Amino acid sequence: MKDQYDLIVVGAGPAGSIAATTAAKKGLSVLMLEKRQEIGEPVRCAEGVGKKRLRQHIEPDEKWLCGEVSSAKIISPNGTTLTMAEEDAGSEVGYVLDRKIFDRTLVELSGEAGVDIMVKARVTGLIIEGETVCGVEMMHLGKTYSIRSKLVIGADGVESKVGRWAGIDTSLKPSHIETCAQFLVSGIDIDQSSCHFYMGNKVAPGGYVWLFPKGNNMANVGIGILGSRAGKKKPIEYLTEFVETNYPNGAILEQVAGAVPASGPIEKTIASGLMLVGDAARQSDPFTGGGISNAMDAGMYAGEVAAEAIAQNDVSEKMLQEYERRWRGSFGNEIANNLIVKETFFSLSDEDLDSLAGSIKDVDFKEMDLIDFISALFKANKKLLWNLRPLFTQKLKQKFSGLTKFKR
Ligand SMILES: Cc1cc2nc3c(=O)[nH]c(=O)nc-3n(C[C@H](O)[C@H](O)[C@H](O)COP(=O)(O)OP(=O)(O)OC[C@H]3O[C@@H](n4cnc5c(N)ncnc54)[C@H](O)[C@@H]3O)c2cc1C
Repeated sequence: MKDQYDLIVVGAGPAGSIAATTAAKKGLSVLMLEKRQEIGEPVRCAEGVGKKRLRQHIEPDEKWLCGEVSSAKIISPNGTTLTMAEEDAGSEVGYVLDRKIFDRTLVELSGEAGVDIMVKARVTGLIIEGETVCGVEMMHLGKTYSIRSKLVIGADGVESKVGRWAGIDTSLKPSHIETCAQFLVSGIDIDQSSCHFYMGNKVAPGGYVWLFPKGNNMANVGIGILGSRAGKKKPIEYLTEFVETNYPNGAILEQVAGAVPASGPIEKTIASGLMLVGDAARQSDPFTGGGISNAMDAGMYAGEVAAEAIAQNDVSEKMLQEYERRWRGSFGNEIANNLIVKETFFSLSDEDLDSLAGSIKDVDFKEMDLIDFISALFKANKKLLWNLRPLFTQKLKQKFSGLTKFKR
């Protein structure tokens, strides 16, 4: 470890490692600090990720792939099942990863690109001079270090403190956080070609139960519940009830708890000398909870902008606006739209969900265009469509453009 770098990245999740690798490949000297003693552990993730966006960063490798799914099944409270093709089902449906090996592989690639990596290295504060971030305070094996850098990237996940230290408001109110619990369940006979999502206020108020197949009759079975809807019953209690009812013979091999930001885009993800990426920047999808693809994309944009800013000897907030422009232009609208979807869907009663699912259950999503989709929604619930009206803009049409290409 040197005492001065071009860039320090805090956190070695997908956002941090892609940022570090991108910047190092562009010639910057980079240090990545991770507080855990082992990269990727414990895994707090259902491990699903869309194929296309993942491949923009790394070629699939059987080392860290547990399986592939071709569809998502959405199950309403009365058991009505809707099937969506993988490419229409959100950024976490496609591959099922082994996140521990995946995260380690990304960090290995950072090392190969020349990044200095330290584990058991907890960042405890920022060095700020004037109004510019110019390094970090860090603890490693009981000793405190001050390390200076021209730029810092905060990739410290949902529990992020880096943004707050630099004066960026990253606070999450209870309605903007999904609290999660997950079991790895073995010995269950499930369709390994689909992810399953169970909706409904009895199963998961303000959220859903997911089931991501991991091969060999195993699956990640998890739950996310909005903090504002949790009440007295904890996510783990809802999940235990679900597993005991649906998979009484399943054996629970692992149990984790975690949280996902569900706020939609926050106002600001930069300060002079600092960029936030991934969950630290609240870039996960507020409806689906998926955050890996957005974290990797944001990491790439931040790494690129870091190199450009340092080349121009300008790490001012004005210069770093380019990072804001790139990530918001790429997936900012999608997460803003999905915040509206989340607020609408998670406020529906179980009867509304059943009525909605019933009205579109016979529609073949592959044969449906935008007009079919809207008329099916209208038929089901006019109030719902009224709530969703801000989405029906040019941007939404672009989002559903994949559907318009299928003609009846
Ligand atoms: C139960 C659950 C299921 C999920 N399922 C999915 C899914 O199926 N698909 C999907 O796309 N997304 C899923 N997500 C979300 C996904 O896991 C995150 O969006 C993704 O990991 C974000 O990546 P990141 O690099 O921003 O943060 P992280 O992966 O959280 O990495 C942040 C890193 O920073 C480190 N760190 C924190 N503070 C410090 C510090 N002070 N100093 C040094 N290091 C620090 C942490 O130890 C951690 O390693 C799920 C989340 C949960 C909780």
